[in-house]
Amino acid sequence: MSLSELHAASLSPETVVVAAGRPPRERDEPVNPPIVLSSTYFGTGQLGDGDRGYGRYSNPTWDPFEEALGQLEGATLPGLLYASGLAAVSSALSLVPAGGVVVMPSHSYAGSLVMATELAEKGFLELRTVDISDTDAVMELLAPEGGKAASMLWLESPTNPMLGIADIRALATAAHQAGAIVVTDNTFSTPLVQQPLSLGSDVVLHSVTKYLAGHSDVVLGALVTSDPQLREALLHHRIIHGGIAGPFEAWLALRGLRTLALRIDRSQASAALLAERLSHHPRIESIRFPGLSTDPGHERAKSQMKGFGSILCIQVSPASGLSGADSADKLVRALQLWLPATSLGGVESLIERRRRHAAEPLSVPENLVRLSVGIENVEDLWADLEQALDTLEG
Ligand SMILES: *Cc1c(COP(=O)(O)O)cnc(C)c1O
Repeated sequence: MSLSELHAASLSPETVVVAAGRPPRERDEPVNPPIVLSSTYFGTGQLGDGDRGYGRYSNPTWDPFEEALGQLEGATLPGLLYASGLAAVSSALSLVPAGGVVVMPSHSYAGSLVMATELAEKGFLELRTVDISDTDAVMELLAPEGGKAASMLWLESPTNPMLGIADIRALATAAHQAGAIVVTDNTFSTPLVQQPLSLGSDVVLHSVTKYLAGHSDVVLGALVTSDPQLREALLHHRIIHGGIAGPFEAWLALRGLRTLALRIDRSQASAALLAERLSHHPRIESIRFPGLSTDPGHERAKSQMKGFGSILCIQVSPASGLSGADSADKLVRALQLWLPATSLGGVESLIERRRRHAAEPLSVPENLVRLSVGIENVEDLWADLEQALDTLEG
């Protein structure tokens, strides 16, 4: 099963997504791993390392995905699959010692921010939030003069939904100097676009729900690290807190991963074209997309990403007689092909006004709409956007 047998290091990621995690090449073995439905495993002696034991400790259906993801992120160890992205966030935050300081982007994924805020309110940790694209400000919070140094730097780049770009290399170095470990939420980019471990991050997090599974039909999360001690601690947390993946979801995630490279190629190209056209549209007040040469994060994104992802955000100009929020809602309602729904990273293009969520930070503008570009024909996507923007005229 191990790709090391296939000299994984020499294979390109487009091949790894297809070739990793296959059963052994033996006569009558299936070419795809089966779904194993069992809550326990035969055993007669004392449980040891590598024994499956019980269904909360491991499941053979998780292994191929964990192995493939580890290889794609350039890790020396397999990843860890979780019941959801937030179960993975919970496990990663468990690495912070009692009372430890966590530095987090003020525009992190809303669920991650809510979790960290609630832990801070209970006194389990101290939370410092910051504009993650402001490298000096982050460095100051990591090791303030006369203050407590951070235990963890949480990175998300590009951020959700403001698409701020963090200087991952510089911040990881500064965090390590302060004695902090670095966790990077790589959901928006996937390992095909950005490899945070190679930029100095200790742990990489994914909402597998999004691009990796890719079809808006499962909720799953994952963590990846090359550090055996960190992996051991995370695995222990998963076993004891129980945030494990169902076998069917794990199987679907691997099936989705097989086409990741094709999906990313298509959606990135379409996002770039749509961003270019939207940036000239009179009904758009502003646009954020790191691929535009005018975007403040453009140069930094270029230095650490392969491409610019396929999420873009627009602020809709208020139509006459309507607030910005109402104009954005009107745009979303007028679309016929784009799906008005939360989430991102699926084959279908999704759009939503982020501030409709109560938990969304107030610093996200009311008229901001996030677009997750899927793999449909780009001219069909553009035609639908154009007709919906036309309804805002006058
Ligand atoms: C969706 C998302 C999460 C949470 O993942 P779930 O699978 O919904 O629990 C975390 N981070 C980012 C960037 C996300 O988009």
